[in-house]
Amino acid sequence: MQPNQNLLGRFAPSPTGPLHMGSLITAVASYCDIKHRGGRWHVRVDDLDPPRIAPGASTSILTTLSAHGLLSDLPIDYQSQHSAAYNNALNQLTPKSFFCTCTRKQLEEFAVYPGRCRSNKTPTKSASTRILVGKNKIAFHDLILGSQEHDLGVEYGDFIIQRKDGLTAYNLATAVDDAAEITHVVRGQDLYTTTAVQIHLMQLLGLSPPIYAHIPVLTFADGKKLSKQNLAPALNNTIAADNLRNAFNYLGMHMPANDRWTVQRILDWGIANWDLKKLPTQLPPFSAMT
Ligand code: GLU
Ligand code: ZN
Repeated sequence: MQPNQNLLGRFAPSPTGPLHMGSLITAVASYCDIKHRGGRWHVRVDDLDPPRIAPGASTSILTTLSAHGLLSDLPIDYQSQHSAAYNNALNQLTPKSFFCTCTRKQLEEFAVYPGRCRSNKTPTKSASTRILVGKNKIAFHDLILGSQEHDLGVEYGDFIIQRKDGLTAYNLATAVDDAAEITHVVRGQDLYTTTAVQIHLMQLLGLSPPIYAHIPVLTFADGKKLSKQNLAPALNNTIAADNLRNAFNYLGMHMPANDRWTVQRILDWGIANWDLKKLPTQLPPFSAMT
């Protein structure tokens, strides 16, 4: 493949705990996809939410990625260092935004936000900031799921861009960062529901969205996604080559058996054989034995 410096993929872990097989699959998929296109791969640590950050998790994640040969082509990026860009975006969105003082209780009976605070244009203490959503249809093409269309008003309603506690909401931070430099977002289908909202924000900010591919997510046999909450086991870095082989196996990519293949050799095989169109629609359930 021809190198193409303009193409940039990313892996954006939240430092809530160590990497597990599910996150390795996402990392490997985003890495192989962009490398197969000749592009570069960027690691961004999504460390915007202090209450959810686990001490030492960033370091542990980066160590695990390196042990698996997954090295960022650009300096590691941290969302916590982007507040200027997020504030800029918040300011730019002022004409479309309003301040919401609704409590959780006031909203619990509504499927989408009922528009109660729409006329509130003055910032107040402990108010969240929402984007006014009217009849906005968002269409995009997902490289795995095909043509998608969402009616934001019906499906999402006025959504939050800055939380009550002052933190930038995930959707705004991700929209700003992805639109700034990323050309290809490969991530789990659990995040699919955020895509239309993120594209809408990029459009309001006059930015062009990346191309998306949402890959199937690794689950336990009961269908639950692997996560820190349900005690998905942390990856063991001393068996990185085995972990990578397993990650490819889950993705339906069965490489030649060869115990001597290094981590780099395995990744190179993955890059050479990468084909989004051949991914299974569902991954086999996680087995701790693999
Ligand atoms: N940081 C998010 C997570 O770990 C992923 C962000 C994204 O890929 O959009 O769930
Ligand atoms: Zn409100």
